[in-house]
Amino acid sequence: MNKYTKASFRALLEKKLINKRTSTLEDTSDTDLFYAIASIVKDEMNQANVTTKKGNIQSKKRQINYLSMEFLIGRLIESNLLNLGLMDVCNEVLIDLGRNPKKIYSEENDAGLGNGGLGRLAACFLDSIASLGYLGNGFGIRYRYGLFEQRIIDGTQIELPDNWLKEVYPWEVRKADETITVHFGGEVYSETMPDGRLKFHYQNQETVLAVPYDVGVAGYDNGVVNTLRLWSAEVPDTELTMHPNQLEYMQNVERISGFLYPDDSTEEGRFLRLKQQYFLVSSTIQTLIKQLKEKYNEPVTKFHEYNCIQINDTHPTFGIPELMRILMDDEGLSWDEAWAITTKTYAYTNHTIMQEALEKWPVSQVQRVNPRIFMIINEINERFCRDVYENHPQYRDRIADLAVISHDLVHMSKLAIVGSFSVNGVAALHSEIIKDYTFNDFYKLTPEKFNNKTNGITHRRWLMASNPKLSNLITDAIGDQWIKSPQELSQLMRYYNDDAFLKQLQEVKLHNKKVLKDVIYDKTGIEVDEHSVFDVQVKRLHEYKRQLLNVLHIIYLFNEIKRKPSIKVQPRTFIFGAKAAPGYHIAKEIIKLIHAVAEVVNYDKDVDGRIKVVFLENYNVTLAEYIMPAAEISEQISTASMEASGTGNMKMMMNGAITLGTMDGANVEIAELVGKENIFIFGLSSDEVIHYQTNGGYNASDIYHTDSRVQTSLDALKDGQFGRDFAFQDLYFNILKNNDPYFLLKDFNSYVDIHLTAMATYSDEKKWNQMSLMNILKSGKFSSDRTIHEYATDIWKLI
Ligand SMILES: *Cc1c(COP(=O)(O)O)cnc(C)c1O
Repeated sequence: MNKYTKASFRALLEKKLINKRTSTLEDTSDTDLFYAIASIVKDEMNQANVTTKKGNIQSKKRQINYLSMEFLIGRLIESNLLNLGLMDVCNEVLIDLGRNPKKIYSEENDAGLGNGGLGRLAACFLDSIASLGYLGNGFGIRYRYGLFEQRIIDGTQIELPDNWLKEVYPWEVRKADETITVHFGGEVYSETMPDGRLKFHYQNQETVLAVPYDVGVAGYDNGVVNTLRLWSAEVPDTELTMHPNQLEYMQNVERISGFLYPDDSTEEGRFLRLKQQYFLVSSTIQTLIKQLKEKYNEPVTKFHEYNCIQINDTHPTFGIPELMRILMDDEGLSWDEAWAITTKTYAYTNHTIMQEALEKWPVSQVQRVNPRIFMIINEINERFCRDVYENHPQYRDRIADLAVISHDLVHMSKLAIVGSFSVNGVAALHSEIIKDYTFNDFYKLTPEKFNNKTNGITHRRWLMASNPKLSNLITDAIGDQWIKSPQELSQLMRYYNDDAFLKQLQEVKLHNKKVLKDVIYDKTGIEVDEHSVFDVQVKRLHEYKRQLLNVLHIIYLFNEIKRKPSIKVQPRTFIFGAKAAPGYHIAKEIIKLIHAVAEVVNYDKDVDGRIKVVFLENYNVTLAEYIMPAAEISEQISTASMEASGTGNMKMMMNGAITLGTMDGANVEIAELVGKENIFIFGLSSDEVIHYQTNGGYNASDIYHTDSRVQTSLDALKDGQFGRDFAFQDLYFNILKNNDPYFLLKDFNSYVDIHLTAMATYSDEKKWNQMSLMNILKSGKFSSDRTIHEYATDIWKLI
């Protein structure tokens, strides 16, 4: 991997600075240096991308196409340098020049083309697909504006547009010559051909260009560079000249790739989201068909032999009718032929069991996006229902629940299940819940489709790149095999009783805490104690993730101190990071509450700095890369059954934090691996939660009225302890009037108790370091390399 010496890299950098930035080494800015380095890296990637693509066509192997409306890729400079083996030489050259590498790399804007876990998963998967040398590409949308930038003003979340493209984006290649035309709306009519088949014609359709921008995805130390293709919507020249309201017309079209998640509070906003979905799948599938015919010289009847399509949640589900449409209307195949190909192509990943999060679209809207697509969905539904009626008479009374279309709604998850050969959940527990509850009818009908693929994270970004100190400590101890085989982290078991090693582990954590301490100070002006416990909850703000339970516990602790200031408490820093959806009132109230509590607790004389509460604004991938290495307690406290997997839990585990959480999502598998003595588990089980839900819940106000700890903490929300009276009454009433649907009050006492246990454990340094080591050494399972290996062998059949 030593392609460059320091001297040759420096010489190249000098040349790039002049050619690309009209700048020289002596007087160059951070920005110029960043773009010059990125240009060197991109040249390397483009070269390898050409070789990879050539090899792929010659190999005639099946490829995986990963379709996702979100790719939360963050910055690419460091992961590209790392994967191409250029990180060390680049860092050394910069340091020789008297520059700070981290500062130069910070010039890159995060590509925040996703909301949270689902989009970050897609990004980790691409890294692993390339690093394992599989043939696979990602397809998504090049949103002009990514997830909003969060600012906090007086404790209130303000959303600013995320203008990530204001400079050129150094990693993309625009490929206007591979533009695809996508058609929306209009009317369909059919004509009977002499052979009796129907031929479909369209009129009055809106024509939109899908222009691809390709971003290279480098594998680690293997010469592979795959492609993430992001589509951008543009107006065809011909349409523009024809159009009377040119400007408005153009804006309308470009809106399709304008924003990640358009405002969904209006019908037009929701319709735009639907258009985005069809835009992604139509452009992608047309490209795959073209590729098969032109590059592979194969007939479309072999589509499934060359392609597998994984859909990340139901957002790309229109790909199923779109492939049917192309195979039948454009390629002349019969329904049965097209259906056989389609159902051997698609595999669906489910990400949620919460009813309100399962996509359902009004029939009228789907018709409006593309009437032919709706016709095909309708026929898929009719044929499916008829098949159940005729061939599975024992399920006849279930047809109303199985139907893809019911109550004038298209149920996207049902369409995805019917049209796919594989349906997977993202953690063992979640996959069981899908089979037993959410999609139980489908499971009984086609059990062979259902499987589990527990999520993962790329250890290259989340350990090697973001925590080099820990990474080096591990390599010094057990060699570097773990880098290509992360399960080898288990070798660290040899050091379980090695006091010197445990001490070094503790020192690495302290170093990372100091780095985060500086970040916290820069961003908030709050000074935290690096010797306090860093207790971290960073993730999207959502009621089911229960940040409010965390805050209620902090309020409880605060009141304990106020009651008895001399009480012994383990100094702690509670760190939050979370964006709330712009229209999600309760979530935004919780952000306000965190700030209000911080304002009181951080400056209270009796508390005397022993407890600090910090909210870091604009939680994104880059911020996460500072937080994960410094975390000691990983708060994973979702209401059991509601977090499908979680991946933040895996990032923190791999960096030596101890999970404090419920038996939910992948926490269950973390607990199994590290053993009950190396994790802090509390609260209801998912069976208990589901039992309460199906039997009308428990009585929240009973607990409130009989348990004084619960009552005191909750009352603080309305009695003005943190702001004026009734400042947080919406949160207070939201729990009591709705009978606490997320079981905060029910789990409160066990949450308080587990914190006491955790803090008692923390005071035994050696024990804590051993627990931390145990978490690191068992975390190999959660490398996305393991996950992708399972997808590739069980679902995609790439080997
Ligand atoms: C990993 C990650 C997430 C997912 O976190 P969960 O705790 O699994 O919900 C969300 N946002 C960012 C920026 C991440 O890096």
